[in-house]
Amino acid sequence: MADTDPANRTADDSSSPFGASFDLDTPLARELAQNADRRSRLKGRQFPRPAHTRVMTVANQKGGVGKTTTAVNIAAALAEGGQRVLVIDIDPQGNASTALSIEHHSGIPGTYDVLIDDRPIAEVVQRCPDVADLWCVPATIDLAGAEIELVSVEAREARLQRALTAYLDHRTATGQARIDYVLIDCPPSLGLLTLNAFVSATEVLIPIQCEYYALEGLSQLLNNIGLIQAHLNPALHVSTILLTMNDGRTKLAAQVAQEVREHFPEQTLATSIPRSVRISEAPSHGQTVMTYDASSTGALAYLEAGREICDRGAAADGRNATHEPTSEEIR
Ligand code: ADP
Ligand code: MG
Repeated sequence: MADTDPANRTADDSSSPFGASFDLDTPLARELAQNADRRSRLKGRQFPRPAHTRVMTVANQKGGVGKTTTAVNIAAALAEGGQRVLVIDIDPQGNASTALSIEHHSGIPGTYDVLIDDRPIAEVVQRCPDVADLWCVPATIDLAGAEIELVSVEAREARLQRALTAYLDHRTATGQARIDYVLIDCPPSLGLLTLNAFVSATEVLIPIQCEYYALEGLSQLLNNIGLIQAHLNPALHVSTILLTMNDGRTKLAAQVAQEVREHFPEQTLATSIPRSVRISEAPSHGQTVMTYDASSTGALAYLEAGREICDRGAAADGRNATHEPTSEEIR
């Protein structure tokens, strides 16, 4: 029997740019067409720069939820959108440093030296080799001991904040361009390292996995943020929630996404990050997905999320989100 359903038809030579019998209505063809459209909307676009340096801590008390992946890919996406970005790796595992191709074997100065030995960030910061305007303070395995060493150090929860403020001031004083975004990649536990990140930041970016149990532990995280706000850092707030590892084919992912959006309508970005093999492969090549496969669905999702973060910031700054930066701002 002849197939009369237009959804099942394949294109013939005359209408298909892909040649004979390429099915234009398959999920793959649709994804390719959507990606091409998203790429043309986003490529080369300059995102609006914030009025002040935005310091964001990427946190979630659960491990393996996409904190590091989000920190490095949002950082690379922001840099691609014309922002100057600093990533501070405060997780002893050093996964963010690896993904950004930053040397971080034992003995390389990094976050440990900043926290314990008062070493200025300017002396330990490294430039990411693959992405322009992206810098990283690396984490070495030495950082694993810092959690305990910090206990006896003066102003132990404000070490990073002091160092970061000094670095941003130093850049201004020495005529260097302003950093637009600082992203801090946290370990999963709420110890002194994470506390230092929370005290340094004004914003928290929470990646939430679109999976069962995703919301478990979230109220504890929010309670902790509340305590830090009350006692250590009144400016701290959850500005951004990013749904990640979103498997569009499952009902469960859609339900989790809906629940998060209902609870956090203001904070949750419209863009969510799909589960993608390219995203998970990139770090083993010392890359973010933004450079590993710039036209993949995952890279485009992170680029879109980065644009949203900038647009929301611009709106919050009371400026028009579509504002084109002046030559003054670009410098
Ligand atoms: P965390 O920093 O919270 O521990 P990671 O960012 O290291 O989490 O991610 C945990 C694992 O999940 C890693 O192997 C990473 O490559 C993978 N991963 C993260 N995001 C995605 C995604 N969108 N699609 C597929 N794999 C992902
Ligand atoms: Mg991590």
